[in-house]
Amino acid sequence: MTSQITSQTDIQHSTVPAYAAPSAKAPLERTAIPRRPVGEHDVLIEIKYSGICHSDIHQARDGWTEGIFPMVPGHEIAGVVTEVGPGVTRFAVGDRVGVGCMVDSCRECDNCRAGLHQYCTGGNVATYNGLDKNGDPTYGGYSTHIVVDEQYTLRIPDQLPLDVAAPLLCAGITLYSPLAHWKAGPGKRVAIVGLGGLGHMGVKIAHAMGAEVSVLSQSLRKKGDGLRLGADHYYATSDETTFQKLAGHFDLIVSTVSAPLPFDAYLCLLKTGGALVNVGAPEEPVSLNVFSLMLGRKTLAGSAIGGIPETQEMLDFCAEHGLGAEIELIRADQINEAYERVLASDVRYRFVIDAATI
Ligand SMILES: [Zn+2]
Ligand SMILES: [Zn+2]
Repeated sequence: MTSQITSQTDIQHSTVPAYAAPSAKAPLERTAIPRRPVGEHDVLIEIKYSGICHSDIHQARDGWTEGIFPMVPGHEIAGVVTEVGPGVTRFAVGDRVGVGCMVDSCRECDNCRAGLHQYCTGGNVATYNGLDKNGDPTYGGYSTHIVVDEQYTLRIPDQLPLDVAAPLLCAGITLYSPLAHWKAGPGKRVAIVGLGGLGHMGVKIAHAMGAEVSVLSQSLRKKGDGLRLGADHYYATSDETTFQKLAGHFDLIVSTVSAPLPFDAYLCLLKTGGALVNVGAPEEPVSLNVFSLMLGRKTLAGSAIGGIPETQEMLDFCAEHGLGAEIELIRADQINEAYERVLASDVRYRFVIDAATI
């Protein structure tokens, strides 16, 4: 192993190269950040690849809440274990591993005990732009190394190449969790709204689960891609007849778009008892006519990533079915350009940073 960690005068921490936004809206630049020493239950991961999620851009540009700067985004991390703490039992040096959107949680609330760490009521620790239990800011995957508790580290099966596995840690689990929860499978008609970084994983996973999959997209521009990725049908929502044609058609609709949806129109597309689940969130509150839910006992729901056990289940499922993300591999010095392209929807379908270039 060649470690790029260089010791500094502070023997408690190591510093590692990273790309960070020094302040809100500032371009990301190469810098060095501290990583905590490898503790009793920690693993040191040499990061190989890190995906660029739309939420990285939101947070680096301070669109949601006040961020912690400098900020090293990245919560789609794939790499290899290079050191383990003395109490680590689940991983060994050389293991292929991943880290998603959280690196710790309270571990005691009902949700944590149920494996639903993403809904931890004690407050989970975000992989970046969060505060560790000791009060230090967390830094994400746009970096060469990260230290993570083994309980929040995922195993990436050998069949999955690390570059296409990285985006599964956020985009993959974000779609897998609602598809599994609402039982996408044989005999079920599932629609994925939007064919972007999230949506393309939704198509692949729902297809692998055995559902009949439709894409609902603004235009037919990406129809060829959608069908190639596993969709059975592809509809343009700009075409009014789509909504007439598909009334009462779907068991489950998963919306990945952050633009506000006309909910009443989409709820009409559900069968009785169907569910419309949001994994993309508009920034402004939305409205709907409650009759759209009552007439047909329909559900309007939301879902956020997944817990640690379900994330592992998703990785194993993707390995079994040969599913990875469609990626465009970039150098670290292309991150700012990649951000602009994500904002312009000019990516098919996920940018992944080659950490060797950081
Ligand atoms: Zn994400
Ligand atoms: Zn908890």
